[in-house]
Amino acid sequence: HDGTPLLKVEGLSAGYGGMPVLHEISIEVNKAEMVALVGGNGAGKTTLLRALSRLLPCTGSIALAGRELRTLTPDQVFGLGLVQVPEGRQLFGRMTVQDNLLMGGYRRGDKAALSRDLDRMYALFPRLGERRRQLAGSMSGGEQQMCAMARALMAAPVLMMVDEMSLGLAPVVVDQLMEVLAQIRRDGVTVLLVEQDVQIALSGADRGYVIETGRVVLSGSAKDLVDDPAVQQAYLGM
Ligand code: ATP
Repeated sequence: HDGTPLLKVEGLSAGYGGMPVLHEISIEVNKAEMVALVGGNGAGKTTLLRALSRLLPCTGSIALAGRELRTLTPDQVFGLGLVQVPEGRQLFGRMTVQDNLLMGGYRRGDKAALSRDLDRMYALFPRLGERRRQLAGSMSGGEQQMCAMARALMAAPVLMMVDEMSLGLAPVVVDQLMEVLAQIRRDGVTVLLVEQDVQIALSGADRGYVIETGRVVLSGSAKDLVDDPAVQQAYLGM
């Protein structure tokens, strides 16, 4: 480990049609960390993920393992291993679970590795294994979230960015998904977890950033953030 963060975002600003949304955002994610990005509705979390994935123009700098991404296309960024699990899952609903997973690995040439990774996904998510021939759109919300996460993992991500994983899911399902994220990290994938549910995000993360109206207003270890009176009052209902 040479001390270079895996992801280093510096002074990133972005918006829609001249309307600024993000103001000079700076965040870092180190290899093998789980970092939470939290904030209320409309704070700009999804906008930041879209800028990182190069789906939205921005100013400032985005470096992945020291390499500048700002001039790259979304496909190139994906190819470097920066992979998003989008809000709302965005599955191919009329395709089977297995075909969705294979779509995640479409860029990889090594068919034997893909086949191994399919098996790995079915071990990680036994429910998906049982339903591999089922149409993705016919599954429950929790199963669809599993499918979206497995599809992203099939791309062999270096950094997986998960947007609003817990939205609309029962607490018991969210606990299962958090457990899977912990397992994924043990396997060496770095995770950026974007959540409106601050309690959930900080429960599994090492560090966190709080975003309000397009600015990072607080950052620190997950423990310090949970103990912070401002966070408790604004986000944890205390
Ligand atoms: P949520 O979790 O509800 O998606 P968020 O923190 O991800 O919240 P964003 O979706 O990034 O917030 O939205 C940030 C701001 O950008 C909001 O004021 C929103 O209205 C605006 N915005 C988002 N998408 C667009 C768009 N396509 N065109 C114009 N404005 C947008």
